[in-house]
Amino acid sequence: MDKAEQLRQQLAVLADGFRERLDSELPALEQMVRELPDSWALASGSLQRIREQLHKLAGAAGTFGYPALGSRARELELQVRVLTEHQQCDHPAQQALLKGIAELALLRRSETQESPLAPPKGVDDRVDRPHCIHVLEQDAHFAKRLNHTLESFGYQVVLHTQVGELRHALNTNQADALILDIAADVQGSTVLGQLGPMQAGRSTPLPLILISDNEDFDFQLSAVRAGAQGLFSRPVDLAKLEDRLERCLNSLQSEPFRIMLVDDDETLAQRYQAVLINAAMRVEIVNDPRRLLEQMDAFMPDVILMDINMPDYSGPELAQMIRLDDNWLRVPVVYLSAETDVTRQKDALLKAGDDFITKPISDNALVNAVYSRAQRARLLSQALARDSLTGLLKHADIKEQVEIELERACRTHRPVSIAMIDIDHFKSVNDQHGHAVGDNVIRALANLLRQRLRKIDRLGRYGGEEFVAVLPDCHAADAKRILDEIRVAFNELQFSGSNGLFRCSFSAGISACQAPIWEASEQLESADAKLYLAKSQGRNCIIAATERSDAS
Ligand code: GH3
Ligand code: MG
Ligand code: MG
Repeated sequence: MDKAEQLRQQLAVLADGFRERLDSELPALEQMVRELPDSWALASGSLQRIREQLHKLAGAAGTFGYPALGSRARELELQVRVLTEHQQCDHPAQQALLKGIAELALLRRSETQESPLAPPKGVDDRVDRPHCIHVLEQDAHFAKRLNHTLESFGYQVVLHTQVGELRHALNTNQADALILDIAADVQGSTVLGQLGPMQAGRSTPLPLILISDNEDFDFQLSAVRAGAQGLFSRPVDLAKLEDRLERCLNSLQSEPFRIMLVDDDETLAQRYQAVLINAAMRVEIVNDPRRLLEQMDAFMPDVILMDINMPDYSGPELAQMIRLDDNWLRVPVVYLSAETDVTRQKDALLKAGDDFITKPISDNALVNAVYSRAQRARLLSQALARDSLTGLLKHADIKEQVEIELERACRTHRPVSIAMIDIDHFKSVNDQHGHAVGDNVIRALANLLRQRLRKIDRLGRYGGEEFVAVLPDCHAADAKRILDEIRVAFNELQFSGSNGLFRCSFSAGISACQAPIWEASEQLESADAKLYLAKSQGRNCIIAATERSDAS
C-alpha cells in the first residue's frame, strides 16, 4: 500500500470515529440543554460545559468534513457566551438553544461528509542515498577534477557534454542538483532558455549552479530566472563550489521537523498527527499536560501546537510554564484553536505564545502553516547555535553534545568515540594565500566531515581550525578507520591559492571510551593528548587511544 493510500485509510478511520462521536455527543448536548435549570445561579456550571462542548465541535467538525455543522456550532457557542456574560438563562434562551442543537443533528444527517481533503504531498522522500549531481561540462580535464572532488565529498556525479543528453537524463534518472558550464556566447543563452521547460515539470526546481565567464547584468538576470543559486567564473574554486552546493541541498533536505501537539480532543489530534506525518514531519501528541515539559525534553520539538481551551489547564497557562525556562525560548508556541475572537486571541498572546492558527483548518493549510513556522524556528535556532563560517555547532554546543552522548553511552552500555581534529600547518596557509582562502579550507573540511560522518554523529567547530566529532556507538578503532578515509580524501582536495593549486592535511586524536565513562572534559583532554602526539609524529595522521579490554 502506498503512502497516500495509507493516509487516506487512516483519515477514513478517524472520520468514522468522529461520526460516531457526533451520534453520541449531539443527543447528550440536547439533554444537557433540556435539563438547564431556570435560574442563573444553578445553570452557570452546565452552561459552561455546554459551551465547552460546542467549542470543541466548532473546532473539529470542519476538519472532519462537516463545515456547515462546524459554523453553526460556533454560532451557538457565541450565543451561550452572551448568555454567560449577561448571567441570564431563561426559557426563551433555552428554547433557542434547543432549536440550534436540533439543527446540528439535522446537519449531521443531511451534510454528506465531504471526503477528506486531498492528502498533502510528502515533502522529501529521499532516503539515505547519495545526492546525485548532473554536470554539463565540455572541458574533459576540468570535468575529471570536478568529478573527483564531488565524489570525495560523497556525491554521485553524472557527466554530460551535450544539453540534449542532459535533458534526456533528467527525464529518466535520479537528480538532486545541476551544475552547468555554459559559454559566454549565444549558445550559452540558448542553454539557459532550455532550462525553464526542464525545470517546469518538477514539483520543486532542481538547485542550479552555473559556471560561466559572462558577468553582465542581462546574463545574470536570465541565470536567476532559470533558477541559478550560484554563479562561478573560471578558474573555478572547487571548495567554494562544493560549499554552495552543500548549502543548496541542505536547505532542501534536513532532519524532519518535530511538532508537538497539545490538544484534549484526541480524534482531532490524531488526525492532525496523520496529516503532518504524511508531510514528512515527526509528531508527538501530549496526552497528559502534566508531562508536557518532560516530553519536550525527550522530543526536542521545533514547534508546539497548543489548544487554548482544555478542561484542566488552559493553553496560555501551559505556554507560560514553557516560557519559565529560557532553554525553550527558541521554540514557538502556536495556538491551534477554535478561538476567532480577536480580543481573546490577543489576551492569550499577551500571556505567552507566539501565533495563532484558527481551527477548523484544511489539511493542506495546516501542513503549510506548520511547515513555514517550523522552518523559520529551525533556521533561527541554527543561526543561534551554529558557527557562521561552517554551519557546524559552536564550541559550547558541541561540548554539550559530548556530555549528552557520554551520558547516553553510559546508560546504554555502548561505546562512544570523541575525535579532536586539527588542520596541519594552517598558519602557513593563511600566510601564503590570505585569510579568505584559509576560510575556504576550513569550510571544505567542515563539509567533508559533515558528508562523510553518519547522521547520528555530532560535529562542531571547537576553535579556529579545530573540530570535534562525537561518534556514538563506535569503537575507537572504527572511528580511526572512518577518519582515516576522510583524511585521505581531504589530502587529495585541491584548493585554489594565490599562486596556483595547493593541498592540505589534518591530524586527529581519538579518545577511547567505554563504561565506566569519564567526564566530558577528561574525554576531550584525552583526545587532545592523542592529537598532540599525532602532530609530533609528523602530522597527516590519526592516533586513537587503546580501549580497555575488560569493558565491552
Ligand atoms: P599545527 O599543524 O601544529 O596545527 O599548526 P597550525 O599552523 O595549524 O597551528 P596554529 O594553532 O599555530 O595556527 C592556527 C591558525 O589558524 C592561527 C589562526 O590565525 C588561524 N585561524 C584561526 N581561526 C581562523 C579562521 O576562522 N579563518 C582563518 N583563515 N584562519 C584562522
Ligand atoms: Mg593546526
Ligand atoms: Mg590549532
